[in-house]
Amino acid sequence: MAETSVDQGGRNIWKVVRVAPENREVNSVYLEGSDEKFAARKAGQFASIMVMRPEGWSEAHPFTISGAPEDALLRLTIKKEGAFTSSVPDWKPGTQVKCTGPLGVFCRDIDSRPVIVMMAGGVGVTPFLSVLRHFAHIKAANRVTLFWGNKTLEDAFALDELGEMTRGLDLTVVHCLSREEDVQARFQPSFPRVLYEKGRLSADIFQRHGVGRDAAFYLCGPPPMMEAAVKELGPLGVEPSAVNQEKFSYAAPAR
Ligand SMILES: Cc1cc2nc3c(=O)[nH]c(=O)nc-3n(C[C@H](O)[C@H](O)[C@H](O)COP(=O)(O)OP(=O)(O)OC[C@H]3O[C@@H](n4cnc5c(N)ncnc54)[C@H](O)[C@@H]3O)c2cc1C
Repeated sequence: MAETSVDQGGRNIWKVVRVAPENREVNSVYLEGSDEKFAARKAGQFASIMVMRPEGWSEAHPFTISGAPEDALLRLTIKKEGAFTSSVPDWKPGTQVKCTGPLGVFCRDIDSRPVIVMMAGGVGVTPFLSVLRHFAHIKAANRVTLFWGNKTLEDAFALDELGEMTRGLDLTVVHCLSREEDVQARFQPSFPRVLYEKGRLSADIFQRHGVGRDAAFYLCGPPPMMEAAVKELGPLGVEPSAVNQEKFSYAAPAR
C-alpha cells in the first residue's frame, strides 16, 4: 500500500505518479495515495484538489475522478482553461496534492438503470468515462448510449478505449461534431457502434439513435451546452427534472 501523509486538517496528501497527454489540451494526472474514503468512491464522483508549488499550496479546484473506482491510482482528466489547469503538464512525479472528497452524487444510482443516455460536452465526458470504466470492470449489462459533443474529433480523447468498450459492453457512442463537414468519413466498419453526426446534440439526433423517454438521462458539460441539450430533449417528452446534471462551473461564493 502507498505511503500517505496527512495535513493538519486531516486531508491525505497524495503524490503525482505521472501526467499523460490525452490530446493537445487535455491531460490525465495519476495520483498515488491511500485513503479509505477514496477507496470507497463511486463512479462519477469528484475531488477538490490543491497542489504544492514553490510558493505554497494552490487554491482548491474540483475535478472528476475519471478512472474506475476499482483503479488503485486516482486519475483526473483535466482540460486547459486558465492558469491552474494550464500548469498540469508541469506537475512532476512526486508533486504533492491534497485531495478532499470524494464529492458529488451525480451518477449515484446509475448501476441500477437498465437503459442509460449519457450526454457530454467536451471534457464533461469525464464522469461518463469513470462509469464506463467501472462498467467494463463489472461486465455490466446496462444498455448505454453516449452522445459526446465536440467541435472536431481531435477535441475528443480516449477514442480507442471507447471503441473497445463498444465491443465488450452494450454501448453505442455517438460523436456529435459541430465543426466537421464530412463526419461520415470518420466511420470505421470495425467499430459499427461508434457513430458520427454533424452538429450539436439535438432532438433529431436523439430520435435517430432511438432515445426513448423511459431511459435514465445524465448530462455534463459547459452550462450553455447543457441548457441547449435539455431543451432538445423536450420534443421527446423528457422533462428537465428527469435529467441528472453536473455542471463544470460554479458560482463564486458571495463576499
Ligand atoms: C464538479 C466539477 C467537476 C469538474 N470536473 C472537471 C474535469 O473532470 N476536468 C476538467 O478539465 N475540468 C473539470 N471541472 C472544471 C474545473 O474545475 C475548472 O476548469 C478549473 O477549476 C479552472 O481552473 P483554472 O485556474 O485553470 O481556470 P481559471 O483561470 O480559474 O478560469 C478559467 C475559466 O473557468 C472559470 N472557472 C474558474 N474556476 C472554475 C471552477 N472551479 N469551475 C468551473 N469554472 C471555473 C473561470 O470563470 C474562467 O472562465 C469541474 C468542475 C466542477 C464544478
